[in-house]
Amino acid sequence: MAELKVVVAGAGGRMGAANIRAVAALGGLDLHGAVARLHGAVDRPGTPAIGQDAGLYAGIGALGVTITDDIDAALVGADAIIDFTAPSASVALAGKAAERGLIHVIGTTGCSEADDAAIAQAAQHGARIVKSGNFSLGVNVLASLVRKAASMLADYDIEILEMHHNRKVDAPSGTALLLGEAAARGRDIALKDHSVRVRDGHTGPRETGTIGFATLRGGTVVGDHSVIMAGPAERIELNHRAEDRSMFAGGAARAALWAASQPPGLYSMADVLGLD
Ligand code: NAP
Repeated sequence: MAELKVVVAGAGGRMGAANIRAVAALGGLDLHGAVARLHGAVDRPGTPAIGQDAGLYAGIGALGVTITDDIDAALVGADAIIDFTAPSASVALAGKAAERGLIHVIGTTGCSEADDAAIAQAAQHGARIVKSGNFSLGVNVLASLVRKAASMLADYDIEILEMHHNRKVDAPSGTALLLGEAAARGRDIALKDHSVRVRDGHTGPRETGTIGFATLRGGTVVGDHSVIMAGPAERIELNHRAEDRSMFAGGAARAALWAASQPPGLYSMADVLGLD
């Protein structure tokens, strides 16, 4: 059985702590022929987590891995990076994953088209990248349902509503965009040509065939999403409520173990779960 040595990037963040706990929880559990072990934990210089034991920082027992700001040192001997940070950091890490032939699990949201192109490029040059706007089983199953419903209800108006905590910096959420992509695939259209991300002022009537987004921010909400399909005299609502971050982190750790037996390339969580 192979051991997968995992480095958690953004270790000092909300998802970083959840990722440390998930990798530790999977230790010894054979998934896809490999077991995960925490090999390193990194964050950016000046973050309070630097110098602390990753396990203690994440609220579990000491793991003997110190959170560092030296990414190159942390990657020596590593097999995989689990990265929920910021777009610029994820693009830089994808380059390092390509140079070293590593697995790179990217949960970071808010990437621009240029960021996504750079990440796709890294996947063509030796990195095994799994990138998803949401690593939970529930949301990926929801996306399959949305795709099917969007194709069956071809004339219904599709609106996606999301709410997150007041520290979130990007909008719409990666999950809202993932669900929008699923709806667009069901309709056989490109989301970027048919999405309405903001409405303000005298907008005129709704344009037929568009997919609308609405964003709420407040409190400590981990992530609520609703996909509303509104037709004549009826509407369908498909909802997901995340109760804590553990299922994102558990999915990301499983994605890293799954990628260990894949060739270099760019994958989604739907690929990991066999949903597409
Ligand atoms: P967070 O608490 O702000 O954590 C982000 C961490 O990354 C922080 O420790 C931050 O350090 C660090 N970081 C930021 N820029 C960096 C850089 N250039 N180099 C190295 N480290 C850097 O945020 P979060 O709630 O954990 O979310 C992180 C990301 O994951 C967001 O994009 C979020 O939307 C996404 N997310 C995805 C999923 C999914 O399933 N795909 C689920 C939840 C969240 P500082 O504190 O010093 O800035």
